[in-house]
Amino acid sequence: MPFQYPLAPHVRRHGPRGYRDRESFRPWLRDEFAFRCVYCLRREQWDRATSLHVEHFLPTSQFPEQELAYDNLLYACIRCNAAKSDQIAADPCRVLLADAVTVHADGRLLASERRSRQLIAQLRLNNPEMVHFRRLWLEIIAMAEQVNTRLYEELLGFPNDLPNLRALRPPRGNSRPEGIEQSYWTKRERGILPVSY
Ligand SMILES: [Zn+2]
Repeated sequence: MPFQYPLAPHVRRHGPRGYRDRESFRPWLRDEFAFRCVYCLRREQWDRATSLHVEHFLPTSQFPEQELAYDNLLYACIRCNAAKSDQIAADPCRVLLADAVTVHADGRLLASERRSRQLIAQLRLNNPEMVHFRRLWLEIIAMAEQVNTRLYEELLGFPNDLPNLRALRPPRGNSRPEGIEQSYWTKRERGILPVSY
């Protein structure tokens, strides 16, 4: 399911520290959030040109000390990053979950909880462009599943350029080194990376 939100609240697996620029966190965030936008689930695999961005959960305009704190960083597409802008919003990793938000075949998000509905409204995740975007990809992926297995696996599989986090050396270390063994690179190395997700 291309638009199935996580089953449980996200627990951070990585903890790089000491980078002086936000882009250095990108490989960690790509792996942390499975190469897709935490808000709308747009995947790197669908559009490598309009890449995903390092996003600040607490906006730097109000919380400048959080600019380079890994636990304040999310991975979000350019569209959702702009929609959120400097707003303070609910944590998508706790509010956009499978039991609270589902996608209708027509592309609309259906939310059963108030906090989820609020975040969907705040980020305009049910505006006509986003509903169209979801319906389009639902149909493309359903068609690929029937007639083109290679394309289906490309659209729902992992990118080829998985980051090798083991090779990275954050200036002030990694507060959650055990997470490296859970990274997608390591899973591919062990032959247990799923074909699709
Ligand atoms: Zn997005």
